[in-house]
Amino acid sequence: MAVSISHLGYRKLSRMIFEWQAVDRTSLLAIFILMEVSLHWLWCLFVWWQQDALSDYVDITLLSPLWLGTTLIGLFFLGIIKHLSRSGNNDNRLYKWQILLMLPYSAYIAIVIVMVGYSSLFAGVSLVGGAMLGMMLIKRRYVWRIFLLQVLLILSAIISPYFGIHLPNLRQLTVIYPLLDTYSYLNYNEVMAIENAMAALTFENNTLDWNNISELQRSSAFFWRSTHVFLALPKAVFIVYMFRTLLLILDDSKREILQHANQDELTQLKSRRYGLRQMQQALLRMGDKQDFSVVLLDLDWFKDINDTYGHDVGDQVLVEVAQTLLQSLTDEAIVSRYGGEEFLIVLPNTKHDSAMKIAQQLQRSIAKHVINIKNGISFNVTASLGLYTLTHDEQTCLRQAHEISVQKEAATQLSNPKNIKSPSKKRTSNHMLTAQLPTDICQRLISTADKALYEAKDRGRNQVVSANDMLAAEENTVNATYASS
Ligand code: GH3
Ligand code: MG
Ligand code: MG
Repeated sequence: MAVSISHLGYRKLSRMIFEWQAVDRTSLLAIFILMEVSLHWLWCLFVWWQQDALSDYVDITLLSPLWLGTTLIGLFFLGIIKHLSRSGNNDNRLYKWQILLMLPYSAYIAIVIVMVGYSSLFAGVSLVGGAMLGMMLIKRRYVWRIFLLQVLLILSAIISPYFGIHLPNLRQLTVIYPLLDTYSYLNYNEVMAIENAMAALTFENNTLDWNNISELQRSSAFFWRSTHVFLALPKAVFIVYMFRTLLLILDDSKREILQHANQDELTQLKSRRYGLRQMQQALLRMGDKQDFSVVLLDLDWFKDINDTYGHDVGDQVLVEVAQTLLQSLTDEAIVSRYGGEEFLIVLPNTKHDSAMKIAQQLQRSIAKHVINIKNGISFNVTASLGLYTLTHDEQTCLRQAHEISVQKEAATQLSNPKNIKSPSKKRTSNHMLTAQLPTDICQRLISTADKALYEAKDRGRNQVVSANDMLAAEENTVNATYASS
């Protein structure tokens, strides 16, 4: 695939970052580099064109080699882009091309930074921004190493004057006093400050014309600051744009991943995992005086629907039943698809009698709902429901029993000398989480509701059975047996 500037739009850029082949991403980086080199080339052209006016603060003798180097490196990157657009997806060969792209670029950018000012905005943006952009597009290990190499190169440039090495510098220093020559490694602002101070001195001595000097300084400062801004800002804007795109993509994919994880694709209800998590959170929020109801709903003879009308119709039934459930319940209810044709309905802060009414209403609504399929065929489905309500009294008993078992476990652990010195962090955090209710509380409630559901199936389906009633009946039977014996 041939990469072009048109790929820089948000949508295409998003696709590129996640879906494009490594070769296309490498091509895109080469395009960015070429764009940057073109800016430098234009800058050289401008200085050459205005050399009469700029020769006071630009070393024109260095301009030609820089311009020639910029032209050659630009052609080199153009060649790489052409080659990449034709090459296949051989990873090993591509990595070699990535090195071939990054090494000359790093050397080139280090030279430009040294020549126009390593303490400038441009140097900072090039160093940090270039590395960030590279990491998004090509092998990160290479970019990291090349970034370190660039840091080393720039550090060497900074300390080189201390070793008597004078690196070429495009900035023509306005030497007002010979002493300045020995401080030519000072950064631009420092040189300006010294120049200002000396200019003021010379002004006092009436040896030089103040207006001429300050005019020269102002023009020089303006020119070099403009140069740094011209070289740095397009790259900075581009890098921020890329990062904005990346963050938008991350937001999108996070939303998508969460949606996949939390929502059942077919019915759009909460997924089993998410439903259980919400149930657990609702249990944690449950007040001392609140009852908590759980309903498990299973469609009757659903396999027969699949067998008679086909799987698609089975799917349609599931979707319509899910709609019926949502329409019949309030927002407080947590409705999730628990299994194939099984739904879990959690009713926080709902007493047994109210939950029974809600469950019976659901059973009637489903039975009443007509499923219309093609060819004018229509039919009804029914559901069996098992209900269990955890009353606040039971909840208190559960909490107390659990607290006792946690304390017992802690005592057992402490009695083991191995555990005294190093109480495990894991146990401490688990204890915090389970201090109130057992961790398997959700499964306990659901399996109790499930027993009632099976009872509903046994009793002939299309009905609601309460596990609380079943437990009470069992207790009564035990009491009666005990009393009669
Ligand atoms: P019962 O009244 O005892 O619950 O009988 P049943 O036929 O409903 O129960 P069974 O568990 O035997 O059948 C459930 C069927 O649901 C089996 C499976 O093929 C079907 N099923 C599970 N998930 C899906 C689904 O996503 N779409 C469709 N169309 N069918 C599904
Ligand atoms: Mg079923
Ligand atoms: Mg089932």
